[in-house]
Amino acid sequence: RSNAVTVVPILTKLQKDCATPLPVLRHVADAMAADMRAGLAVDGGSDLKMILSYVDSLPTGNEKGLFYALDLGGTNFRVLRVQLGGKDERVVATEFEQMSIPQELMFGTSEELFDFIASGLAKFAQEEGGKFHLPHGRKREIGFTFSFPVKQTSIDSGILMKWTKGFAVSGTAGRDVVACLNEAMERLGLDMRVSALVNDTVGTLAGARYWDDDVMVAVILGTGTNACYVERTDAIPKLQGQNSTSGRTIINTEWGAFSNGLPLTEFDRDMDAKSVNPGEQIFEKTISGMYLGEIVRRVLLKMAEAGALFGESVPENLCTPFVLRTPDISAMQQDTSQDLEAVESILYNVAGVKSNLSMRKIIMDVCDTIVKRGGRLAGAGIVGILQKMEEDSKGLIFGKRTVVAMDGGLYEHYPQYRRYLQDAVTELLGWEISKNVVIEHSKDGSGIGAALLAATNSQYE
Ligand code: ADP
Repeated sequence: RSNAVTVVPILTKLQKDCATPLPVLRHVADAMAADMRAGLAVDGGSDLKMILSYVDSLPTGNEKGLFYALDLGGTNFRVLRVQLGGKDERVVATEFEQMSIPQELMFGTSEELFDFIASGLAKFAQEEGGKFHLPHGRKREIGFTFSFPVKQTSIDSGILMKWTKGFAVSGTAGRDVVACLNEAMERLGLDMRVSALVNDTVGTLAGARYWDDDVMVAVILGTGTNACYVERTDAIPKLQGQNSTSGRTIINTEWGAFSNGLPLTEFDRDMDAKSVNPGEQIFEKTISGMYLGEIVRRVLLKMAEAGALFGESVPENLCTPFVLRTPDISAMQQDTSQDLEAVESILYNVAGVKSNLSMRKIIMDVCDTIVKRGGRLAGAGIVGILQKMEEDSKGLIFGKRTVVAMDGGLYEHYPQYRRYLQDAVTELLGWEISKNVVIEHSKDGSGIGAALLAATNSQYE
């Protein structure tokens, strides 16, 4: 039977180590703002890369014509077309298709992978009809969302620094990924052109901005996390005077790499040490969907080993990294029944453990502690970005309505996380200012966003 005398102190220590009272949140927000500034000063000046997107004109709603988007961010790729009708007609029609990348292509050559993508795109483009119409004499233009680390060199070119997320394709690292795609299209005789290469966060901002001029920040909270925002070019010293005509550009913060002043525990340190990228992406490891369930599993394992939470023996499944996924802890937290029946069955199905009510209550407290810390720190990060913007443009952020566009499975499907995030923003900004800061879900905006950026960067305009 579980031993409350030894389990409860583990829970109490966890709650203390994970606590995010206002001073901690404030410190994180201030540190985020300071790190952003350092990353804008010089390349390599901070944990935050503050990557230039070369997107300096944002969608206005006036865009017209047929545009394509191609999204490669993981094991699936998506293609999309949109017919834009300008201010009045807006989105006349869209169609999309999702295709999965065969496992062997993730370990093949660059040519094989890009040939596969180009042929998927060609097939999709062939089916164009109905409401979609390309003016005579024009090429089909593509917004290419490519969610791997890229050193962008212009709006339509960027060098792949390294593959991540399980890809190990030979021959692409160090090359311009737009050129790789263009060459594959040429080999196929497909006459399309990439007009914009965009990060998925940047696509989300563009997609949300199309509908709402007050969108200034976009945040993705899914398997991983990232954020981007609209910056003034005169506030980017590392640009060294290469100002855009609009005077503004989108900066991709790569904020997952932030690490300053976070309340971390022994469980975070152990998880990080065992990860494929120890010492990197610490903010991401504390707040994003890939890791929340795993942190909870590590706490429960310690409670089982040191506190006999599940009786004499330690449940075998609980020793397997990542068996407890964030959707599992989210499902447990939606259980409002008296005897926590859903919690019982999830624990049994996932970890093979039988639990009594008092054990289940402790486990719920563990989930809540980890999710509360994640949501509140994400909120502090957002306030850090807003604070940085406000410092450079007094009254232009906090004096008016400002929208933060959110996307990603974690934000979309985890109501408690969302609430904790909003609470932290309200606590930090105070009631008056936070009334004007609208944190809004912008679902799957990044696909259309990329097509919109192909439109704003069209070679024909
Ligand atoms: P990705 O970030 O992998 O491109 P998504 O934005 O769809 O894709 O996010 C997927 C992630 O969202 C999952 O890895 C998981 O962490 C989280 N997630 C999915 N469903 C839920 C859920 N029901 N509750 C909590 N988190 C979820």
